[in-house]
Amino acid sequence: MKIVFLMSDNAGTAGRHELLNHHPDEYGAILGPTLIELQQPAYRARQIAGWVHERFAAGFNAMTDLPADLRTLLDERFSVSPLEMAFQARSRDGTVKHLWRLRDGEQVESVLIPSRERVTLCLSSQAGCALACRFCATGDFGFRRQLSAAEIVAQFRDAELVSRHVFGRGIANVVYMGMGEPMANLDAVLASLSILHGGFGFGARRITVSTVGLVPGIRALAARPEPFRLAVSLHAPEHSLRQMLVPIEKRYPIPDLFAALREYQEAKGRRITFEYTMIDRVNDSVELAHSLADLLQDLDGFVNLIPYNPIPGRDWRPSPAERIEAFVGALESRGVEAAVRRPRGRDIAAACGQLRLEREGMEVEERVEGLDGES
Ligand code: SAH
Repeated sequence: MKIVFLMSDNAGTAGRHELLNHHPDEYGAILGPTLIELQQPAYRARQIAGWVHERFAAGFNAMTDLPADLRTLLDERFSVSPLEMAFQARSRDGTVKHLWRLRDGEQVESVLIPSRERVTLCLSSQAGCALACRFCATGDFGFRRQLSAAEIVAQFRDAELVSRHVFGRGIANVVYMGMGEPMANLDAVLASLSILHGGFGFGARRITVSTVGLVPGIRALAARPEPFRLAVSLHAPEHSLRQMLVPIEKRYPIPDLFAALREYQEAKGRRITFEYTMIDRVNDSVELAHSLADLLQDLDGFVNLIPYNPIPGRDWRPSPAERIEAFVGALESRGVEAAVRRPRGRDIAAACGQLRLEREGMEVEERVEGLDGES
């Protein structure tokens, strides 16, 4: 009895069917037997989907226009979020990082990044990552497990409420640039895209999937009817250097990657963003800028240059301003558009490549306290 009590009291306990894994079109089939059991009309399924996707209900008890016996039975059988907020920290530059605890105790992070006119959510697609890019803290940490579609979507759903509360506006853009490699968790990521778009009505053009260059994933995204955006983490325009920085280059070398990107562009007609982490004297020479321009010659591409954000255990430094300027100058002289991005949220370890779990309770508590007293 005690165990049953604990389980039904805990929003997000395993054993219940997680609704956030599903597109609203599936709600009728999933909820049908429960509705029939209580002689409830079929339209209740749409009503419940509305509560989940439009009204952001935290649980079935919040669904006040449902009969009480239905709410009780739904709560026994289903759940509407697999996440628990483990902590939240706010950076001096306004960035808000969340650490989410999943049902099995794994933890992932997402980051809300405000700019003058919009808020961008950077979310995670895996707990950890198997791809071991040399400059990435998540890669150092290794792979823990795949996230479900619900665990991806719930980062959006929960962060949207925080965004409205903290910034007075909802999320305008979603980028799959947190922990993990989205295209190494393709089924869940594609399902999450469907739910964000078809459930939450989030515009496909406002969602960017960032990949280290997994060719099957790029093809799968190209095959989707919706115009989701694609970003590719390139970091080097030449095979030997890229395979040192991004080991998956061995499996999907640049010529294969670019063949897939050309296919993507033919299918979608969309500009592709290339991310390029600038590491001092490693990948930031003017010669490499020209090789990059050569690669992008027959593509509609845009280059985001991200100064390397130092992680422990490497003696690399970010490229200094003058090397970045020379690199940008070379790209522009070749007609390639580029922008330099400053990592945001450095003081709370929320910047590019810095997302990693901090399990030490002390540190977490300190940061929670720091939230309201943010300067
Ligand atoms: N696996 C996906 C998404 C996660 S990384 C991908 O590789 O695209 C999101 C971006 O942050 C990538 O472009 C990644 O290369 C970059 N990044 C990772 N570590 C970084 C670091 N230490 N400094 C700057 N950018 C980094």
